[in-house]
Amino acid sequence: MTETIESFIMKEKPENYYEELTGELEKLNSKFRMFSNINKEISSGLPFSVKDNICVKDVESTASSEILSGYLPPFSATAIERLRKGEFGFLGKTKMDEFGFGTFGTNCKDHPLNPFDERYVTGGSSAGSAAATAVLKHHVSIAESTGGSISAPSSFCGVVGFTPTYGIVSRYGLIDYANSLDKIGVMARSAADVRYVFDKIKGSDGHDTTCVDHPISKEGHKKLIVIEQLMEGVDQEVLSSFDRTLAKLQSMGYTVERRSVPFIEKAIPAYYIVSMAEASTNLARYTGFKYGLKINDFSKGYNDFFTEARNSFGQEAKRRIVLGTFVRSASVKSKYYEKALQLRQMLIGSLNRILKEGFIISPTMPIKTPTVEEVNGLDPVKVYVRDSITVPPNFAGLPHISFPSDYIKGMPTGTQLVTSHFNDYALLDFVEEWEKSFEYKFKYNVGAL
Ligand code: GLN
Repeated sequence: MTETIESFIMKEKPENYYEELTGELEKLNSKFRMFSNINKEISSGLPFSVKDNICVKDVESTASSEILSGYLPPFSATAIERLRKGEFGFLGKTKMDEFGFGTFGTNCKDHPLNPFDERYVTGGSSAGSAAATAVLKHHVSIAESTGGSISAPSSFCGVVGFTPTYGIVSRYGLIDYANSLDKIGVMARSAADVRYVFDKIKGSDGHDTTCVDHPISKEGHKKLIVIEQLMEGVDQEVLSSFDRTLAKLQSMGYTVERRSVPFIEKAIPAYYIVSMAEASTNLARYTGFKYGLKINDFSKGYNDFFTEARNSFGQEAKRRIVLGTFVRSASVKSKYYEKALQLRQMLIGSLNRILKEGFIISPTMPIKTPTVEEVNGLDPVKVYVRDSITVPPNFAGLPHISFPSDYIKGMPTGTQLVTSHFNDYALLDFVEEWEKSFEYKFKYNVGAL
């Protein structure tokens, strides 16, 4: 059992605890590059890190994009505000795929590396948050998922990654990727720590009308449902590891049933249409005038000025602006964008029916942790299809959690559990039970007391 947040907060710490912590972290950061900045002023509370697309007042927040370099938000995101008022201490901003566009955490400058072995990627887009959680003993990270950005890196870095029901945690102060999909969530080293933080950050907020105060249930299930289509294309080693996990769960009293869900294999194209459409409108605000990067040469013509500013987007951001603008253009809107929205509704309906009966369970990722070299060789579509398992719950706004369930040749791998909207606590209960007989391993325990 790991020590809980509460016991850490109560415990007497050596006088120079935070100084040593940040010193050691800085050293490791030069190796694993998980933080874009470390707050050396931290002097009390449980250290928490923040994904760089979540605003912290007066702290550079760039969503790992050059176009936002130098941007100092004038206010903090609601989730951060709620933590800063409590017994938490802000530790720094973590790196990510630019604006959240990515699956492996490599779409940014000096991208993070996996603390289990630096030849491997961390997963993304909440790359630095997962790596930081894998390195620090007493710490939580506030991360964000649009289509799997909490689950994927949590699986590759061996931490617990929780994505709540869409709309439970305020998005105010989040640098939007796709507003109808973005969810702020929590990464930690135990389900109990996730719960503690989730309870602090959730709940309605006058600044975000999509955020609700809905009762959150904890309706457990003994039935685990494996969706056949999600298992297609899963690597052999991941498959065997998942079978071992299922066998263990069966010995704990769970039953396993296999089912198929109509159209679930279309979730990837539909998700990418909707998310890119929304992303392309969100990125329109970055023009070299208002946020971050400023192009001060006003002698330039209109086209030259904006071309220069918008040239500082990375390749993946540019790709999404072009594709997103295309799919919502008048001549093809009904063919792509509107169809994708219809598919989302159908998927929500069929997943909800299944989730009344039990939890949906799967490996978190269809592949084991890839090396940086392997990822660099992938074309964009090969990257997108790696989200086949994490996209469906995200697209449907369903709460899900990835928890460490095995180590394949020393690298962690996770299992993903999905439940009905607003049944979030049931996921945390499930993982707490799992943790009673499974020990999470870490190579680093920076800040251990
Ligand atoms: N890989 C997905 C994408 O690029 C999800 C990323 C995310 O959740 N931010 O859209």
